[in-house]
Amino acid sequence: MKIPFSPPYIDDDIKQEVLSALDSGWITTGPKVKALEQETAAYAGVEHVLCVNSATSGLMLVLHWLGIGRGDEVIVPAYTYCATALAVMHVGATPVMVDVKDDFNIDPATVKAAITTRTKAIIAVDFAGWPCDYNALFAIVTDDTTKQVFQPVGAVQEQLGRIAVIADAAHSIGAEYENRRVGSLADLTVFSFHAVKNITTAEGGAICITLPAPFDNQQVYQTLRLWTLNGQTKDAFTKSQAGGWKYDIVYAGFKINMPDICAAIGLAQLRKYDSQLWLERKRVFETYSKAFAKYEWAELPPYEMEGARCSYHLYPIRIKNITEQQRDRVMEVIAANDVSVNVHFIPLPLLSLFKEKGYSIDDYPVTYLNYSTEISLPIYPQLTDEICSLIIETVANAYKQIVE
Ligand SMILES: *Cc1c(COP(=O)(O)O)cnc(C)c1O
Repeated sequence: MKIPFSPPYIDDDIKQEVLSALDSGWITTGPKVKALEQETAAYAGVEHVLCVNSATSGLMLVLHWLGIGRGDEVIVPAYTYCATALAVMHVGATPVMVDVKDDFNIDPATVKAAITTRTKAIIAVDFAGWPCDYNALFAIVTDDTTKQVFQPVGAVQEQLGRIAVIADAAHSIGAEYENRRVGSLADLTVFSFHAVKNITTAEGGAICITLPAPFDNQQVYQTLRLWTLNGQTKDAFTKSQAGGWKYDIVYAGFKINMPDICAAIGLAQLRKYDSQLWLERKRVFETYSKAFAKYEWAELPPYEMEGARCSYHLYPIRIKNITEQQRDRVMEVIAANDVSVNVHFIPLPLLSLFKEKGYSIDDYPVTYLNYSTEISLPIYPQLTDEICSLIIETVANAYKQIVE
């Protein structure tokens, strides 16, 4: 039997919720999406959440709303999924890559060094579900000298008066930093509900809108929502109600709304996330950490810090003093033994698109070290203790076979 890497969690409650959308006569953006927005907001401890059709489009939407475009720079970690940087490119701006730290997350010191008069935002990625150092990032953007360098263009940037901090929280729903939930830690936070993420809607994403005063987050929600639906003043659900056929188009919006049929999956998952799905991920994570702590070659992922909590999205184990080629061979042996493993991530500068644009991995030594020694093990609620033991044994044997 092959152990899959990250199958979706689908049970009867989830099927029932999807069936209820199908039976309701309304399958696209409507009551289920509204419920998912409200329940995600309550879960993250924020007031305003907008659902979209992916985290990628969520990131594009917030960058566009911030007025970021041609000639602007957005700082991103070199160690992330391509979507973080592609969203920046899709609004016409330039992703400026910086190195990460040993904990896989963006290094505030490299961020500070990368700031120019063109810098408009920082996108921090909570790698594997471990929150970034948001205090350090906010200390940089609110620092007087950094604020003096900032050159606002447009009303939103004028009002913010500094570089925006955006959280790419594709991995980190349910994580905490200083006893605060991810969702409330940045100016704008984007969750992914893609099929492999901790909560899924098959494809989807959600934006937490937590801008500082004097921004009116309810008004920003309304604006962004309009922009997900072609800039149309009445959504299809409202129009479908009696007498509501008239509408106007007031903005050249996008079409990036979430359908109710998708929201139903996420709603049923979210309702059992803390009480079950997150706990089961934690169990698998801790089982691995306890077992691998016995091996001096194993570098365990971070998950303990005062006031912090991980979402346990990935289990990124690193093997000390190993080359990229050895790592690849260890993975081959693991795969040959029917355990699916992965690498998170191939650093952006190693991908053709970014290489051709002139980014070089030589500029990101910690990113390369993390990447070349990393293997992501399966982590999801369905993994029993027995299967975990099998995975641990398979990894340890593969190390022995290739390296010892
Ligand atoms: C999955 C992922 C995304 C993209 O999410 P989509 O919902 O598929 O657009 C963005 N950033 C990171 C770090 C991811 O892992």
